[in-house]
This record gives sequence, structure tokens and C-alpha cells, in this order.
Amino acid sequence: MEIKQNISLKNRNTFGIDVFADKLVDYYSIEELQDFIRCRVADGDTSPLLHIGGGSNLLFLKDFHGTILHSCIQGINVTADEGDNIYVRVGAGIRWDAWVQYAIDSSWFGLENLSAIPGEVGASAIQNIGAYGSEAKDFILYVDCVDLETGDIRHFCRAECEYGYRDSIFKNVVSGRYAVTHVHFQLSHSFRPNIEYGGIRAALQEQGIKEWDLSPAMLRQTIIHLRQQKLPDPNVCGNAGSFFKNPIISYEDWAKLLENCPDAPHYELETGVKVPAAWLIEQCGWKGRSLGKAGVYANQPLVLVNNGDAQGKDIAALSKAIQDDVAKHFGITLETEVCFV
Ligand SMILES: Cc1cc2nc3c(=O)[nH]c(=O)nc-3n(C[C@H](O)[C@H](O)[C@H](O)COP(=O)(O)OP(=O)(O)OC[C@H]3O[C@@H](n4cnc5c(N)ncnc54)[C@H](O)[C@@H]3O)c2cc1C
Repeated sequence: MEIKQNISLKNRNTFGIDVFADKLVDYYSIEELQDFIRCRVADGDTSPLLHIGGGSNLLFLKDFHGTILHSCIQGINVTADEGDNIYVRVGAGIRWDAWVQYAIDSSWFGLENLSAIPGEVGASAIQNIGAYGSEAKDFILYVDCVDLETGDIRHFCRAECEYGYRDSIFKNVVSGRYAVTHVHFQLSHSFRPNIEYGGIRAALQEQGIKEWDLSPAMLRQTIIHLRQQKLPDPNVCGNAGSFFKNPIISYEDWAKLLENCPDAPHYELETGVKVPAAWLIEQCGWKGRSLGKAGVYANQPLVLVNNGDAQGKDIAALSKAIQDDVAKHFGITLETEVCFV
């Protein structure tokens, strides 16, 4: 376990916001985390705790007066291999994309469309990360956790995780209560490419790749290429990916929107109509614009960027201005995907 006091979190969040935490604890095993929690309970320490991963979905608004926990738990272990299915337990501290690469190299398939998403394996189970028609929940069997109040171990099966769009029980009723230590995935020995979403088919055609020649590695490279065209690299330009969720509106509200905007892009769902937040933001004239040190990325208006030395409050002010404009023009509330701390 490594404990640092009064430490800058600038390198621990992809927005690059320079805030300080009273204490930062990097732990390397379940036992280390349990020791830490049990000592804390014994000392009667009730100061705030926050568990982070790679900080790629966080916006720090101020210094954190408490302890930041971070898992460095490694390990990729096959727990069962039955017919077409392979079951794998993966440490929470492994970089998500390193796991995707490892799975493809091992001929375990399913995660190809989730290539190049920043962050760590632990957070994938909290966030239900998704891209190009796939979501983490499609492959998660269960999640191993440590209760941050008692140090006890608790397992959540997929149904108990209550997964939704970028959502889970860990972001709702049990928010902040559990540290994810391992995630159990069910992958397949058969490669079944999913190329119907977000320009994958067109990108394959451009490269002259026929569907029957497509390998998992080629699909991964295509996804990486598509993402690089749209998304800024956090090492070059601070950001946290999509800042807002795509709103889902009722069919009644959709009918009203259509009267003024007959060409509005949309996806019909059972629960309502999903309207791309990027389109709403662009219609309000925010694409490529800045407010102080915070900006809207020109290639993808769903992404807010740190133009250099921005503070959390600068990004939050831009977010609020966009939400207000979208509400004024369309009567639609944009919910943030990024967690404000
Ligand atoms: C350029 C860019 C592109 C992105 N593209 C996508 C995308 O395509 N799809 C998508 O879904 N997301 C995307 N994201 C968002 C982000 O990558 C995901 O939300 C990711 O899962 C966050 O992982 P993290 O390890 O950085 O978690 P953090 O941002 O550090 O934390 C996220 C949440 O998880 C909690 N948490 C993290 N680790 C643990 C743990 N071990 N135990 C308990 N709680 C924990 C935190 O408390 C917080 O609530 C993108 C981000 C960037 C910067």
C-alpha cells in the first residue's frame, strides 16, 4: 500500500484539474484494502472517502478533504472454460484497454467494440461503459467488492448490479459504499463481429476489408481509428469523453420537437426516443466555442475540453451554460455523464 499526504490530483484525472487531496491511498490487494478500512473503523475515522480509477470520468471542483482510494489490483485469471464460453476474473486496477487487447490476443471475443475506452476495469462495472453498440454489462457476470464501511467482501451478480445506460446500482442506492476489486467476464471463443453501429461498416469498406475477411484485431484497429478521429487525446487536451448523456424523451415530447425540427436525428426505443446530445448542443451554436478556459471540442460537441489551466468551476460553468441553452431552445434537460466531485 502506498499512502501520500496532501497530494495533487492533476495526474489522476484526465481533465488535468489541479486540486489536492488530504490523502491518497494506492492499494495492491483485497487484504490491504480490508486492513485500511478496519484500521479506519477502529480509529473512528469518518472523514470522506472517494474511490477513483483512472479519473477519466471525474470533474474535481475543489480540493478533496478526505482520502482518495485507488486500486492497483492486477491479475487476469480464467475461472472456467466451457464449450464456447470462457470465464475470466480481472483485477480492478488493470487499464480497461489493456484488458481488451489481452482478451483479443488470447482469442477471447466480445469486447472488440469497447476498444480504447480510457479508465480501469473496476470502473467499467460501475459505469457500464459502452460504445459502438456494445456495453460492459453484456459481458459482466458478477462483480467482487469490498464494503468500505466494514471491510467485508460482497459479490454482486449481473442482475443485482441493475445496469442501465451508463448506470448501475453503484451509482445509485449503494453509491460510494463499495470498492470493486475484481470483475468477472463471460467471453466467447467465437468471433461474432458487431459492425452495424457508428460508421464501422463504412470504415471497413473504405479500407477495402470484406466482412468475411474481418479479424478481431482488424475490428479493434478500426474502432481505435474511428475514435481517434472524433475524440481528443486526454494527454494532449484535458477532457473526460462525453460530458452529457444522450437524453431519452417521451414520444409526446418527440412529436413536439419534430414540428420545429423535422430532420432531428433520433433512435426510437421502447422507453422513449433518444436524441443525440451532440446534435442538440451543435444546434445551440456551441460546437467549437469556448467560455473562458473551457471549450466545446470542434469534432465532437459532446466533449468539453480544458483549454489549459482551467479549474473545475470553469468546466462546470460551460456545462451549465450549455444545459441552460438546450433547455431554452428544446425544453430538454441534459444530464451530465461526468461525476462532479
Ligand atoms: C477520451 C475519452 C473517451 C471516453 N469514451 C467513452 C466511451 O466511449 N464510453 C464510455 O462509456 N465512457 C467513455 N469515457 C468515460 C470513461 O472512460 C469511463 O467512464 C470509464 O469507465 C472511467 O474509468 P476510470 O477508471 O477513469 O474511472 P473514474 O473516472 O476514476 O471513476 C468513475 C466512477 O467510478 C468509480 N470508481 C472507479 N473505480 C472504482 C473502483 N475500483 N471501485 C469503486 N468505484 C470505482 C468512481 O468513484 C466514479 O464514480 C471516455 C473518457 C475519455 C477521457
